[in-house]
Amino acid sequence: MIKKGIRRQIVMHYFIVVFSTLLLAEVIFLLAIRSYYYDSIYSHITQHIKQVEEYQKFGTSSNEGKDDLGNLLMVYKLNYTEMQVLNIQGDVLINSSDFQPDVSIKTSDISQAQSGNIGRWVGRQPNTGEDVMAVSKMEQDNGRDSYIVRYVTSLEKVNAKLFNVTLIATAVAAAVLALVLAFSLGLANSIVKPLNTITAVSAQMARGKFNIRVKGNYKYELGELASTLNYMAQEIVRSNQVKDDFISSISHELRTPLTSIKGWSETINSGGYDPEETKIGMEIITKETERLIGLVEEILDFSKLQQNEMKVSFGRVDLKELLQEIMLNLWTKAEKRTIELRLDSVDKPLVEGDANRLKQVFLNLIDNAIKFSHENSAIDLFVSFEGNNVVVQVHDTGIGISEDHLVRVKDRFFQVDPLNGGTGLGLAISQQLVELHHGILLIQSELDVGTTIVVRLPRLLEAEESEIPQLPGAETTQD
Ligand code: ADP
Repeated sequence: MIKKGIRRQIVMHYFIVVFSTLLLAEVIFLLAIRSYYYDSIYSHITQHIKQVEEYQKFGTSSNEGKDDLGNLLMVYKLNYTEMQVLNIQGDVLINSSDFQPDVSIKTSDISQAQSGNIGRWVGRQPNTGEDVMAVSKMEQDNGRDSYIVRYVTSLEKVNAKLFNVTLIATAVAAAVLALVLAFSLGLANSIVKPLNTITAVSAQMARGKFNIRVKGNYKYELGELASTLNYMAQEIVRSNQVKDDFISSISHELRTPLTSIKGWSETINSGGYDPEETKIGMEIITKETERLIGLVEEILDFSKLQQNEMKVSFGRVDLKELLQEIMLNLWTKAEKRTIELRLDSVDKPLVEGDANRLKQVFLNLIDNAIKFSHENSAIDLFVSFEGNNVVVQVHDTGIGISEDHLVRVKDRFFQVDPLNGGTGLGLAISQQLVELHHGILLIQSELDVGTTIVVRLPRLLEAEESEIPQLPGAETTQD
């Protein structure tokens, strides 16, 4: 017995379909054969019975008539067939066999003959229990009484033949069914076995074993399922790795300012009381606290973006003005490393957006450019129009990014070197914020040559300009 499941379902489906088809075909075939045999016998007797019409000279009530019937029997009897002559009521007058004639016959062939047709009856002879066919026809004898000629032939041999044919047909059907069973079982196994393997592997994955993989060269949908599962495990491993990296980098990021804050607060608390030293300590505590707040905010922003809960208020933003403002913010940082910040912009590069969020994007991009540039270099900011877009390029000649790392830099928490500071969230957040503004962010970079980050945003045309407020309007949640 096959266990419940896909295997059983496939086998059962095939079995039921083939079994019913075979059954139907066999029934039709056997019925056709049976009616062919029976019809042949019937038409043979019918042809013969029609010739009796020619027999004219006899009577039914006299001795002479009885002799005539005898002659009739002599002339028209058929091999392997019993011939009877009956009066119109169905009483047997004379019979070709040695048996005592039946008194009266009431089978359906008689009534058909009485109504002028050639009657046919197939059934079991009451006295012998034999299967027979009876064919009867009424004959009119010019002016004299009518009579019925009846031929009765045994069907035993034909039935035996039919039984043999039925046996052969059943054997063929059984063989076909066995073949179908074997084939459907094979087919079911070819589906169920890989499924079982995949289920076993996914159960192991569910228990946390993500290094396990579905092995084997499966075809079609099963192949796709196996490779999707393998891909999923690979992605989980990767994202776990990214999370682990993030936790270690975030702990590092948190520990450094916390250590410094703790150190300075202990020093101040222990009563050093040198006002100058206390001032430096307090400044450091403030700076480190700000850094911590920045870090936590970045994490919060990212989490909001992930959950589509980032609030944005759209208005008219002039990207040239925005970049000039950012340059002022980052001037000191760039100065410290003698990095020149240059801006080359078209006039009025207007976009519709959230000024604070766009500032966050470009602050992050330019901050990265400063962080990863060599000393005594320059960072160029180009702003231009391209069709209906405003394109901002942040170009540096810094350390660049290798091809391998380039595909991953926009992944959350990814950092080429975690010791560089930062969270690895900046580019992921920037990318999502740009997408929130219906724009795109592209990174072009070559190791040791430099990096260009391209941000393309839909341009706000003059006609639309007046419809949009310069100051942020009502807050909306991202879609
Ligand atoms: P973070 O700067 O906080 O580490 P980002 O998501 O902004 O996170 O950047 C991810 C990584 O991409 C950085 O750690 C750095 O390795 C690389 N990267 C980003 N911008 C540049 C750049 N201008 N030049 C070289 N590498 C860069």
